[in-house]
Amino acid sequence: MKTLNDFNFEGKKALIRVDFNVPLNDKFEVTDATRIVSAKPTIIKILEDGGSCILMSHLGRPKGAQDEFSLRHIVPKVEDILGVEVKFASNCIGQEAEEAAQNLKPGEILLLENLRFHSEETGGDVEFSKQLASLGDFYVNDAFGTAHRAHASTTIIAQFFPESKCFGFLMEKEIDSIDKVLNNSEKPVLAVLGGAKVSSKITIIENILDKVDHLIVGGGMTYTFVKAQGGSIGDSICEDDKQELALDILKQAKAKGVEVHLPVDVIAANDFANNAETQIVDVDKIPDGWQGLDAGPKTLENFDKVVNQCKTILWNGPLGVFEMENFAKGTISLGNSIAEATKNGAFSLVGGGDSVAAVKQFGFEDKVSYVSTGGGAMLESLEGKTLPGIAAILE
Ligand code: AMP
Repeated sequence: MKTLNDFNFEGKKALIRVDFNVPLNDKFEVTDATRIVSAKPTIIKILEDGGSCILMSHLGRPKGAQDEFSLRHIVPKVEDILGVEVKFASNCIGQEAEEAAQNLKPGEILLLENLRFHSEETGGDVEFSKQLASLGDFYVNDAFGTAHRAHASTTIIAQFFPESKCFGFLMEKEIDSIDKVLNNSEKPVLAVLGGAKVSSKITIIENILDKVDHLIVGGGMTYTFVKAQGGSIGDSICEDDKQELALDILKQAKAKGVEVHLPVDVIAANDFANNAETQIVDVDKIPDGWQGLDAGPKTLENFDKVVNQCKTILWNGPLGVFEMENFAKGTISLGNSIAEATKNGAFSLVGGGDSVAAVKQFGFEDKVSYVSTGGGAMLESLEGKTLPGIAAILE
């Protein structure tokens, strides 16, 4: 796998696909700059080599050129983070972009306007890709967040740089982390899968059963498994049509020698509300009118033991409705267990949507080995799919 450090960018114009799809407030200020900060090492390496950077990204889901989705809003923030002036082209293709790219000197940065102002971007249009490609003489993909999309700037463009393309540092880290969990893992390997629904995690579960020694199932998914085994789950969230599937997963796990750990007790509430009345009950004896919204104390003790005996840990999905303070304890406790295991030498990867939000909210970000920056891309990787953006660089 060729990475940035295999190349010297002196005198080169690197066309870098970054993921600057950052959240903005109503004053168009960046409210979370993580994605910009994550792209910094790649940009700085190229500048320090004596190259220049042409940055391309999407922002949101515009319908045509809508000013609210303009990347010009983020220019001050990018300058702030990189400590370098950032030039801006108000169209990612065409004369303005071509002239700005031509005039770019070593050490300079040009940011192109939102790629998705052209429908050809998501359409994966070859001609549009070629126009983008003409702006630079080297292609770097550092946008893990969109690596699962075969868009013009993430995938199709790579064909115009057969010998001069590579991953950026962020992509490299993401790919390495997934590899450390799924392929080159130190045993015992544990996957913790929480979140709301079995249906959204089923492909991941099926893929990882061949890779893990332990599987913790938590969160809303729990109740489909418990009901399928004959337990009473009261009004807890459940996918009735996935009960067969849940039993089949348990059977497959047994056949593969994977130990499955389910909650034994839960915090049940008489309403889906933070101020609801609560009681701790066995997971399979939840009374009617009550619903399990978080893991109980015995469960957390069990999970802590499992986590701390493992050397590789993947965490996807919260153990309860962590958005409500009174049902966040399980997720926080699991985070603490994973932090402790990490301190003792385990490799821990947190990936996919809500678990990343939880990890950040509760301050575990620096206490786990790696927090993935890509929601959908991470989930698809865990499902065992080859992402088109990654394949296009390796081809
Ligand atoms: P996911 O995106 O599949 O990881 O699901 C995350 C969501 O699952 C979060 O918004 C949680 O509030 C929700 N969740 C976790 N546990 C439960 C539960 N016991 N009942 C209902 N929702 C839950």
